[in-house]
Amino acid sequence: MKVFKKILVLLLTIVVIVSGCKKSSLKTEEVIRPKDFLSDKKYEKLVVTIVYEKGYALNAKTISGLQTFLSARLNKPDGIIFNQKEIPDQGKRIITITDIRNIEKQFRFDFSGKSTLTAFVYVSAGDYAESAGNAKVLGIAYGNTSCTLFGKTISSYSGGLAQPSRSMLETTVLDHEFGHLLGLVDNGTNMVDYHRDIYNGHHCDKRNCLMYHAAETSDIVANLLEGGDVPALENFCIRDLQFNGGK
Ligand SMILES: [Zn+2]
Ligand SMILES: [Zn+2]
Repeated sequence: MKVFKKILVLLLTIVVIVSGCKKSSLKTEEVIRPKDFLSDKKYEKLVVTIVYEKGYALNAKTISGLQTFLSARLNKPDGIIFNQKEIPDQGKRIITITDIRNIEKQFRFDFSGKSTLTAFVYVSAGDYAESAGNAKVLGIAYGNTSCTLFGKTISSYSGGLAQPSRSMLETTVLDHEFGHLLGLVDNGTNMVDYHRDIYNGHHCDKRNCLMYHAAETSDIVANLLEGGDVPALENFCIRDLQFNGGK
């Protein structure tokens, strides 16, 4: 009887531990809203995990660029932290949204909870399956706290003659995808004044703005060479963020 009781207690403990682990999963990310990034009401700290396939580590300048971009807009008094780690080559040169979601399931270990918000960035060694025609997709934001950069595609449009530097193109795409996680444009963060480009999804109609639709496709390359720098958010987008808890 005693032994039976002991086994029962052990089994119950295992059940509690296992169900306790399951609480933190991708499911917990589904309730995160742009306001949770912008304000410090629920979350005072942000941890951004970047996983990349061999050869596609983000440039240190790209990460410090994102740090500067986020620090300027988010209220995170306990800081914004970045972790970057390599994952094995996934062996796919064309990658679909289903592949991307599977990779997140497999390689994401940090989830939002308590006062810490988490975000996940996957840098792929493949081209996006939905790139069509001349404009290649360089990045997508596909979850409430997750986005992907197509590292191979980005590298083919940067670092060469008459091309922007790799860190400049990476930073543009990464900042832009985080702009989507912040609810831009009109996608979880309401517009104070109308500035949505109705022909191009949730993007800004101001050509020089970071949230202009071309900023996540190869079409941005010409603009970057012309402008010479990573595009910033213009005032319409900044005001939207400020009215939703941001700085
Ligand atoms: Zn976009
Ligand atoms: Zn804008």
